[in-house]
Amino acid sequence: MAIAPWTDQVDTMAPELIATRREFHRIPEIGFEEEKTSALVAEKLRALGLDPRVGIGKTGVVAMIEGAHPGRTLLMRADIDGLPIDERTGLEYRSTHPDRMHACGHDTHITMMLATARILLEHREHLHGRVKLVFQPAEEGLGGAQAMIDDGVLEDPQVNAAIGCHIWNDMPVGQVGVREGPIMAASDRIRITVEGQGGHGAMPHLATDAIVAAAQVINTLQTIVSRRVSPLSAGVVTIGTIHGGYASNIIADRVEMEGTVRSFDDEVWRQMPYYIEQVVGGACSALGCNGNVEYTRGVPTTDNDAEMTELVREAANEVLGADHVLYPQQSTGGEDMSVFLRAVPGCFFWVGSQNSEKGADKPHHHPEFDVDEDAMPLGVKVLVASALRYLGTQP
Ligand SMILES: [Zn+2]
Ligand SMILES: [Zn+2]
Repeated sequence: MAIAPWTDQVDTMAPELIATRREFHRIPEIGFEEEKTSALVAEKLRALGLDPRVGIGKTGVVAMIEGAHPGRTLLMRADIDGLPIDERTGLEYRSTHPDRMHACGHDTHITMMLATARILLEHREHLHGRVKLVFQPAEEGLGGAQAMIDDGVLEDPQVNAAIGCHIWNDMPVGQVGVREGPIMAASDRIRITVEGQGGHGAMPHLATDAIVAAAQVINTLQTIVSRRVSPLSAGVVTIGTIHGGYASNIIADRVEMEGTVRSFDDEVWRQMPYYIEQVVGGACSALGCNGNVEYTRGVPTTDNDAEMTELVREAANEVLGADHVLYPQQSTGGEDMSVFLRAVPGCFFWVGSQNSEKGADKPHHHPEFDVDEDAMPLGVKVLVASALRYLGTQP
């Protein structure tokens, strides 16, 4: 397997990667509305000589790189959606769409995957099997991965393994983060309703106060992580919104709250709805109110397969050098790649992009978010090297 020449080629492609990323950065679209984005992805895939299929999972795009030899199928995934944020970077290439922004860096994922496709196409003779390039819509909480799976993206030909990456402003540029097991959290949503009996603010004994019950619910929810989840495991229960009441002299009959629940352990993940219902039901009934929980599963943990992670780590060590490959701390963020990784073994890794000298130090989803674009060639190298390793020999 010839390794050296293509890594040099990736370095010379850096200006082109930056231009492509900025092209996508200017036209961000939110989940399942990525019409311009997927059209541009398809156009660029056609320019590479590929025959993309569009409309998979509504606005997703899929293209196949056939190797010269028979073998396995590797899914390589890039997510393509932006966020409903008004960009405030003031950059020359900032979003041209009001209230839309590539504030999570998915524009770099598209770019890195297109470059990966180009290099792999030139190495078809070394590939045993094929790469299924998957440009996934609606990563940001709308279930784009499942929509693509429902449209058959894992079949025909059946996918054997999956690789993807995220540009990562929590890590300095020059580093990539590779870790087996759950690298990102399971993420669920809750909606809690507390119902009591309204009344005069001066006569609480004639009413049942939903606000006092809601206060008990919020406090007691904090004991789930501190008292129910093992101290050696981890979890988050956050109430993010609370609405209730009418005026200072009225006892509220109803309070609504919304929150997010995170965990890293499948057993904790399974138990969370039970813990939350128990707290809400118990705290409310102790105060004569009714409590109701709507628990909505989001994504499971992004669970990296040990063998695939080792393959990616070795590939990264080879092309970047071991001192550029970190074993990162897990993130409590959720990630839709998890849905693919529940279906097939795979690895999702991080490409460090933080550089305060270039103003690339804002967190993901921030209106001034930007990345150090020099991170992209590193991501491409790890993606290509991983694919060459996975498909390099007859399985
Ligand atoms: Zn995001
Ligand atoms: Zn993201």
